[in-house]
Amino acid sequence: MVENYTKLSIYDDIVQTIGETPLVRLKKIEKYFNVKNELYAKVEFFNPGGSIKDRIGKYMIEGAKKEGKIVEGGVIIEPTSGNTGLGLALVAADEGYLTVFTMPDKMSLEKEFLLKALGAFVIRTPTAVAPGDPNSYYKVAEAVRNLIWKKKRPVTREELKEIVEYVQKLVKEEKIDELREILDERIEETPYAYIPNQYFNKYNPLAHYETTAREIWKQTKGSINYLFAGIGTGGTITGIGRYIKEKRRDVKIIGVDPVGSIYNLVKKGMSLEEAVKKAHPYLVEGIGEDILPETVDLSLVDDIVVVNDQEAFAMTRFLARKEGILVGGSSGAALYGTIKYLKENGVKGKKVVIIFPDTGRNYLTKIFNDKWLLENGFEIDDEKVLEGLR
Ligand code: PMP
Repeated sequence: MVENYTKLSIYDDIVQTIGETPLVRLKKIEKYFNVKNELYAKVEFFNPGGSIKDRIGKYMIEGAKKEGKIVEGGVIIEPTSGNTGLGLALVAADEGYLTVFTMPDKMSLEKEFLLKALGAFVIRTPTAVAPGDPNSYYKVAEAVRNLIWKKKRPVTREELKEIVEYVQKLVKEEKIDELREILDERIEETPYAYIPNQYFNKYNPLAHYETTAREIWKQTKGSINYLFAGIGTGGTITGIGRYIKEKRRDVKIIGVDPVGSIYNLVKKGMSLEEAVKKAHPYLVEGIGEDILPETVDLSLVDDIVVVNDQEAFAMTRFLARKEGILVGGSSGAALYGTIKYLKENGVKGKKVVIIFPDTGRNYLTKIFNDKWLLENGFEIDDEKVLEGLR
């Protein structure tokens, strides 16, 4: 029986269908791993773009419109690992804005094709460069923005295509000095190009404070004891953490961080400088950082549990077979981290909510492809990897 189900309506546009995602109990997982707690997954692939990031796409564009940062005919540009791009792209398509996304090479091809299907332009950048380098995905987005600002008027789709191809060529040919020149030139800001920047945008955590958190509170009737979420920009855990801590301070907010990211090190008290030095690449997508974004407030996070790529991937694959829930690697990481944390800390009889940020369809050629796993040195016997958690 469907109770309190509010999504059985007719909507005026796709943007209105964002949010109100279900909580799904993970009974088979609880039994297999002998978890003495109730596990509920907030399954965010029910959003129209397939991820939790649709929520912030909507909030960041609405916020920019309200504040006059973007006007009709404007271009929205974002450095993104994919999901935020998709959220922005579908809201932008609905509202008539052009979009450009810059993405590191390591991100899956599927994500690039999805963005292009929604009318966006995509520029690929090298993965292993510092965020401040002129060919990093952050800086390449600024270069595109500056070239549009320079025109002092809205650009056509054709003009935008030329700008995108020019910048992609500079990146590919490693013309660092030319990129730096575009970045350093003093250009007047116009509302014809805007970078929402999910890492610094207050509407990112606000989207989760006002929607994701309220939904969880309502769905659990305020009976939640633990919330587990991966930390990328930190918007999810910060927005949810803030709302829930205002309601009941004793609810534990636990972050899940990949090995190689800085969050767990900073939370343990290491200086940011030291932590950044220790950061190293990993393959799970969407979580972990080598910078400390403005959108994260680690004071709301009670603890952080660390998960490696192998554990994340094995759990993601196992979850699909065991529960029929096909999600991405950050969801598998969150679930692995949850069970590990609950067991290590002897937690029993609690209601636990875990955020599953996106769909596994984004990773069919990677996490769900044995050949890719083997080529990258991973074990494909998931049960063997997970044995230690039982
Ligand atoms: N998982 C995936 C797949 C993501 O794309 C993101 C967003 N980077 C996250 C988790 C983390 O969410 P947040 O940025 O709100 O911390």
